[in-house]
Amino acid sequence: MTSSADYKDLESKYYMQVVNRMPPVLVRGEGTRVFDSDGKSYLDFTAGWAVLNLGHNHPAVTEAIRDQAGKIMQMSNLFYTTPQLSLAKIIVDNSAVDRVFFCNSGAEANEGACKVARKWGKINLNGAYEIITALDSFHGRTQAMMAATGQPAYQENWKPLMPGFVNVPYNDVQAIKDAYVEGKTCAVLLEPVQGEGGVNIPSENYLKDVMDFCHEKNILFMLDEVQTGMGRIGTLFGYQQFPGVEPDVMTLAKALGAGTPLGAFTTKEFCSVLKPGDHGSTFGGNALTTAAGSAAAKVIVDENIPELAEDTGVYFQGKLLALAEKYEFITEVRGMGLLIAVEMSKPISGATVAAALPEGLLMNAVRPNMLRFMPPLNVTRAEIDEAVEILDRVLAQTGA
Ligand SMILES: *Cc1c(COP(=O)(O)O)cnc(C)c1O
Repeated sequence: MTSSADYKDLESKYYMQVVNRMPPVLVRGEGTRVFDSDGKSYLDFTAGWAVLNLGHNHPAVTEAIRDQAGKIMQMSNLFYTTPQLSLAKIIVDNSAVDRVFFCNSGAEANEGACKVARKWGKINLNGAYEIITALDSFHGRTQAMMAATGQPAYQENWKPLMPGFVNVPYNDVQAIKDAYVEGKTCAVLLEPVQGEGGVNIPSENYLKDVMDFCHEKNILFMLDEVQTGMGRIGTLFGYQQFPGVEPDVMTLAKALGAGTPLGAFTTKEFCSVLKPGDHGSTFGGNALTTAAGSAAAKVIVDENIPELAEDTGVYFQGKLLALAEKYEFITEVRGMGLLIAVEMSKPISGATVAAALPEGLLMNAVRPNMLRFMPPLNVTRAEIDEAVEILDRVLAQTGA
């Protein structure tokens, strides 16, 4: 039998050392819990990184994958397969967009959206190609998405960056108006709530004002819903939390494939400008990933999981606010649905995450002074109570 120490040796010898992993070697999951190779259980308040919105090993998803794997998993998109169309229909029926293209990740979804935007600029705006994005955003790790992602840490080692992106402060409509150049700007790409940037919630009118500005200038208003989509922030799609807001282009990934690698970019009919030959993908939308995605999306819609996330999120934030009364170094609790951050006046989030591990809680140090929680959307109140008790115990030490 291989021990967890052996796995760590294998990793350090054979795997590219691009991440500092946490100690547990995880071998199994069930609902909100995961189990390591020694049989120890953890509450997973990362949900596979905002991916497992129905938790680990959800029977509807597992069954759909088993069933589809026994039928047909992969064909070229030159042929019809059916799970792809069921999932596209669910997305379109429940959102403002009209057409879907499936790919394999969030970065790739945003790449596709940017191709739509550039073609839009070519056809309608005299070749305009520049896309305005926000500082503290996260759009992925490809060459172009590093330029779109407004965080110097992701850009520094890869300059010169791909041209065609400008990063402006988030939640600042004027900054977008100032960055706009007629004949050069073709789109704006924003997250409805910034996830990796620390759960930054914009003011109520921000997205609507940006949308109105985009439409006034005939440029595309694009939302990156890779993290906020599929119920995470309390509505099926994040933009539905903001009255009057509808994206022209919307991207999805993370929870879309329920644990299988699946992304999508979607458009309204008026800007569905890609034509045969313009784009493609070998794996994108294959029968296996879209069967998993369809099964998950059906449960999320039919069981009104977004509303559950909204209610549970209010409960969770209430418990965290009670901790904030106890520990004066907690300066803010913020979130929407089950995407929640705790901001502190001390840089102790790394130590807090590390100290919570042996206590059986997984969470994310999204910034040195910020914790982020993104549990499965069907997490129970009892599990939240348990997580908050652990957090309370741990903060008593790390905050002292
Ligand atoms: C995670 C994330 C991405 C990147 O997704 P990958 O699948 O890792 O490429 C893009 N945008 C947002 C908002 C994300 O949270």
